[in-house]
Amino acid sequence: MLLVKKPQSYHAFSANTYIVASDGECAIIDPAVPYCEELISGKLKYIFLTHAHFDHMLDINSWASKTGAPVLVSEGDADKLSDGNLNCYTLFSGRNNGYYGKYQTVREGDTFALGSETLRVLELSGHTSGSIALLSEGMSFVGDTVFAGGGFGRWDLPTGDLNALKKSIGRICELDGDTVLYSGHGESTTVQKYIEEFKRQRFI
Ligand SMILES: [Zn+2]
Repeated sequence: MLLVKKPQSYHAFSANTYIVASDGECAIIDPAVPYCEELISGKLKYIFLTHAHFDHMLDINSWASKTGAPVLVSEGDADKLSDGNLNCYTLFSGRNNGYYGKYQTVREGDTFALGSETLRVLELSGHTSGSIALLSEGMSFVGDTVFAGGGFGRWDLPTGDLNALKKSIGRICELDGDTVLYSGHGESTTVQKYIEEFKRQRFI
């Protein structure tokens, strides 16, 4: 099973950053903390984005330039990287900004080896058109699709879609009940707990 670190973010918009590791290799998911050598153990192989909202990639430049690891984003969200209107930087800060460096795109079913573990892409459009989760044994990094407590992501931002979001929440709820869900904001939960909490909320 992957080892998971969740370093503290110093930004006002506190998206969660996760650093996952297995057998001397590691990956960062949603780099919203500045690059720091002490955070990584062994070789950093991948820089993943669960989606291309600005708060999930505030420190992507430092990680990409210091490590040379590939930036991996879904096909559906690649256009948001360098567009402050689509990645919401403009909306929240009044400045058009983004990531203008190299990247590679990923899609449903792609798998990435990390030490003795793998990460697999699950497409979860709804919060954005290209939101994804990264699945590994016993855990899933779900970005802003669902949150502990029965919550889920906004669908009113550019390329958001409520019907797609409902389907994506359904996909997460179909995962094994013990799967730990690591969200883009807040605490982690499990699929089973999330289903119970979601039913209590009955928002949608
Ligand atoms: Zn988001």
